[in-house]
Amino acid sequence: MLPHAPLTETIAAYESELDQLPILSALGLRHELVVEPLPYKLFDAYGVQVDLVRADQLHPVISGNKWYKLKYNLLEAQRQGCHELLSFGGVWSNHLHALACLTAALKMSAVGVVRGEEHDAATNPMLLEAARQGMTFEFVSRQRFRQLRDDPFSMVSVGRYLIPEGGDNPLGVLGAASMVHCLRCDVSRYTHGAVAVGTGCTYAGLRLGLPSQVKLLGVSALKGAWMQRAIAEKMTQLNVPEASWLLSTEHHRGGFAAVDESLLSFITEFRDNTGV
Ligand SMILES: *Cc1c(COP(=O)(O)O)cnc(C)c1O
Repeated sequence: MLPHAPLTETIAAYESELDQLPILSALGLRHELVVEPLPYKLFDAYGVQVDLVRADQLHPVISGNKWYKLKYNLLEAQRQGCHELLSFGGVWSNHLHALACLTAALKMSAVGVVRGEEHDAATNPMLLEAARQGMTFEFVSRQRFRQLRDDPFSMVSVGRYLIPEGGDNPLGVLGAASMVHCLRCDVSRYTHGAVAVGTGCTYAGLRLGLPSQVKLLGVSALKGAWMQRAIAEKMTQLNVPEASWLLSTEHHRGGFAAVDESLLSFITEFRDNTGV
């Protein structure tokens, strides 16, 4: 799992190595994470004060947590002398999209193993953009995708570095933990943190990086009771006490990226009232 040195020291060591990759600072990616108050009538009604981490403003293409989960993996790939990165995702994968942009900047090549069909490459805007950045794809069925994701051995080759779906490996978790160090605020003044959960890598990293008295609420974007077990397992591996994490599996609308009328009207209303 994760290295044994204290988290802060481990992160600092990786960060100083990252500083030596000029192309990454040229991308303008090492910015601190801005934290803004988020006034909203529902929060007022419940007497809750909410601040928002503007990770969406990190970069025009590589937004949010994706950079954090990938950065130490990119370093590790370079350390190992690998020039090709391979990872997994669905057709709408922000992770593959970000990976394509980063590998292009680093002049590395990238392969996306995509749960989808050949024609998606010509129609899906995320894949089109990733292809423009030089990513090549291998399209596989759902069943094959699961097989490869769980046992990617057949994808291994010399000079190729494998990153799991969503960047969810120990270096991804460590990178997500480093988000806490980038926050321009005093994190110890918060009672709770909240984050959307896909693979749970970001959630696990934030749990590691945040002070233990800050409770972390995860909201699953995926459908399925298995998620509860998967996150519980992650938390056990990380030695996180039960009282400090909480996952909701009730707030998807039937599956990943699925919406219904009430969610759509909430999104519109929230945007109109908060600008987010
Ligand atoms: C990708 C993404 C997530 C999910 O991240 P995981 O580490 O896979 O759980 C959550 N929030 C945002 C904004 C994302 O882009």
